[in-house]
This record gives sequence, C-alpha cells and structure tokens, in this order.
Amino acid sequence: MELFEHSASELLEMLRAGTCSSEEITRSIFRRISELEPSLNAYISLSEESALETARQVDRNRAIQIDESPLAGIPIAIKDNICTKGIKTTCASRMLQNFIPPYHATVMERITNAELPVIGKLNMDEFAMGSSTETSFFAQTRNPHDLNRVPGGSSGGAAAAIASGEAIFALGSDTGGSIRQPAAYCGIVGLKPTYGTVSRYGLIAFASSLDQIGPMARTVSDCALLYQLICGKDPRDATSLSSNFHWNLPSLPSVKNLRIGIPSQFFGDGVEKEVCAAVLRGAEYYQSQGAELTEVSLPSVHHALSAYYIISSAEASSNLSRYDGVKYGYRADNPADLQDLYCRSRSEGFGQEVQRRIILGTFALSSGYYEAYYRRAQALRRKLRQEFDEAFQRCDMLLTPTAPDVAFPLGERRNDPLKMYAGDICTIPASMAGLPALSIPCGYSTEGLPIGMQLIGPTFSERLLLETAYFYEQTSGLKEIRPVFRSCGGKEGTK
Ligand code: GLN
Repeated sequence: MELFEHSASELLEMLRAGTCSSEEITRSIFRRISELEPSLNAYISLSEESALETARQVDRNRAIQIDESPLAGIPIAIKDNICTKGIKTTCASRMLQNFIPPYHATVMERITNAELPVIGKLNMDEFAMGSSTETSFFAQTRNPHDLNRVPGGSSGGAAAAIASGEAIFALGSDTGGSIRQPAAYCGIVGLKPTYGTVSRYGLIAFASSLDQIGPMARTVSDCALLYQLICGKDPRDATSLSSNFHWNLPSLPSVKNLRIGIPSQFFGDGVEKEVCAAVLRGAEYYQSQGAELTEVSLPSVHHALSAYYIISSAEASSNLSRYDGVKYGYRADNPADLQDLYCRSRSEGFGQEVQRRIILGTFALSSGYYEAYYRRAQALRRKLRQEFDEAFQRCDMLLTPTAPDVAFPLGERRNDPLKMYAGDICTIPASMAGLPALSIPCGYSTEGLPIGMQLIGPTFSERLLLETAYFYEQTSGLKEIRPVFRSCGGKEGTK
C-alpha cells in the first residue's frame, strides 16, 4: 500500500512508530499528483518546496523528540478561497489571478503553527458560486470515479484530490453545500460546522451570513481531527463562537435509543429513486442497531432554495463590490475614464455566473424590491430555523440525502443555471439555519457512482454527528467499498 492511500490517523501512528517520515508521505502525495493531475485538474497551484521543507522540519523535531502538535507532519490541501500568506489565492477567478495575500487566514495560522505541510491550493467554482467546479477560470476538475463527470462544487478540487489520493485531507468552504455535495459526489466525508465555530477571517467572502470553513477527508476520524484543529473563537471574526470540541474516542460509540428524524420533504419529487433507496437503507441500518426513526416535517424546505439564492446573491453583490479595478485584483487596460475602469475591470475580471449573482443580488436589494424579495427571504429563513428547532424537540438529528442525485456529466447543466441551483435543495436548509451537517458515503448507484447521506444536528452537535457517522463507517461494511487507488477514472477505481 502506498503512503498516500492511508488516512491521517493511520499515518500519525506510522509517524509515531517511526515506520515512515513526513517527508516520505509528502513525496508520495506529490508523485501521485504528477501521475493524475493531467487528467484530474484538482489543484490551481502547488507548493512542493515549502511543503517538503515543513515535512523535513517535523522529521528533525521528531528525531530530537521536540513536542509536536497532534497533526504535525500530515500534509493538507487548501481550497483556493482561503488566504495563504505568500501563496497565490485566486478564488478560481481572473479577478484574483495574481493575488498574493499578505496575511494568513486564521485557519491557516493554526495549520502552519501545527506544522502541517501545505501541498497546494485547490480548484473550485469561481468565488465558490456553483455546484460543479465548472465556473473556475482555470480548469475543469474531473470526478475520479468517472472522468466524464463533475466532482461537484464548489469545493470540487478538494473532493477530487482526496478521493483520488492526491491529498489526505483538505479545508473546504460551504455556503450552501459546497463541502457536503462534492463530498457526496466523490465518495468522501465532509463536515459543515455550526456557523461561527470556525473563524471566517481570511476566507474570501461570498455570503458572509452563510460562509463556513470545514474539513473534508476520506474518514470520519480525519474530519474530526481536522475540525478540532481549526475550531474555536477568534477575536478577528465578529461572528465567531467558542466551541468545545475534542475527538478522542475510547471505544465505538453506541446508537442505541438515538432518535433519528426523517424529514419527508427531502425524499420527494426531484430526488432520484436510487439515492432515496440508498439513504433509507442507511437509516434502516441505524434502526437495526438500536436507533429509533421518527418522521418529521419541515414545510419551509420547499422555499429554502429561492430564499437562499436571494440572500446569498444579495450578500455577494455587496461583498464583491470591493473588486473595482482600483485597490487590487484585475484592472482593465487603458480605461477611458473612471466609469470605464470600473465597468470593464468587473466585466472582464468576473465570469458569467459571478456576474449573474451580482446582478440578481443588486436587484433584490434595490429600493422597491427589497421588501418583496430580501425581507421575505429573511422571514423564510427565520421560519425554517424555527421548524428545525421544533424537529429537534422530537429527535436528536435528521438524516437526509446530501444531494438529490449522483455526479452528473460534464457540461450537462453549464447553461442551465436553474437546474444547477435545484441540485442544492438538500444542503441549503442546514446552511440557512446555521446548523452543523455532515455528508458520509452510504452506497453506490448502479453506474458505480457514490451516494451521500447527510446528518444534520442542532447547534454545536458536531461531536454527536461525527460519532454517529463514525459508527456507520466502522460497522456497516461500507468501508470495504471505498475507492481504492490502483487506477483512476475506470471502473477498477472502485471495488
Ligand atoms: N451551490 C451553491 C451556490 O452556488 C453553494 C455554493 C457554496 O456552498 N459555496 O451558491
């Protein structure tokens, strides 16, 4: 077995036992990248020299037994909307093609202090707007399970890299599903934490009331370890909350008497039959192990999608007004006057989808329309949150599909934004309510494509969600069919 095939937890044990070095792990990943990257395009940029330097430093410290942080020496990859000091951070946009941040995001400070070698920056939808990684200015990332399909989005680069062995784990961001949906499409685990528990300082803003950074990995434990490293209060983010999360499982958690709610709105029209069936099998598995299933109802879910696209676009139109061709970012050549400079810098620097959202958001906030759209969307958001609160009186967590479908063919929805948006229906409700939610693989379609199951919990229930997912991963037998790494893209990629 090659080093890149191991989970972070396994590699940590090997590092401790001295059977491999951090430099060897890091080199193994870069070899894998040079082999697959020409067909996958998961990364926008690589930082091999500095990653190896960090790895060697960890190895030297270990040799003289200097105390290290728990994840020291395990290489990580970072979505390209998280600011990395001295390393280009593009948001997959022409607008920020040459932007080198002069500072680290808070999560990056934690990663560097903990001495994790940083492999590189991952491809994504431009400014995290999209569900397929097709709106990236740079390249189309492909799904390692089938190279003719999308990896999901917007953290599609992260999911593809992890599923194929080009990364062990990664940091993604999730505004309306961008960690969970690509995790589902690529057959990995992804956690969107409670809003506020991970600092957004240094995360390039899309929709500030929804944006969250979170971990993506091949195993539940790896997600938990990474979440433990990045969560916690940060005075530089006014919405940041303190959270008390520790991952140290003495034994397999139990699901006896766990009350799992099944919201009917997530299993109706528009959700593929195979997906419903696989997810319900997951629920029945928990039941067979002692959990109780209860039906719950969240009627406002039907309107969550429209409300999300109003609110997120409104916030995006305001956040993205800072890219004016003056302060930083792309600037149009030879402007005739100031108006021309603004207009052409933004028209040439932003792609079509980003421009669509800016226009939609500006319209929704304009006088006369604000009450009709933005105010109503906010009211719906509050109502949805209430419905979740009521549901959590009756159950400990909810179980739903992560996406209504499996990875779709490249190009299928590129020119049909409404169809693209409709795919976010299962992930958006938890985002709108600020709740933690996790996606874990629960089966495969007849075509061999991964299906994701989503667990949504009350505020601060990350530990319960992760334990419940861990139980499933360890006991349901699904572990055996996760991607193996011999090839990539062909049927042999999945056993
Ligand atoms: N697909 C959703 C959108 O385009 C979610 C994106 C995200 O979570 N960053 O808005």
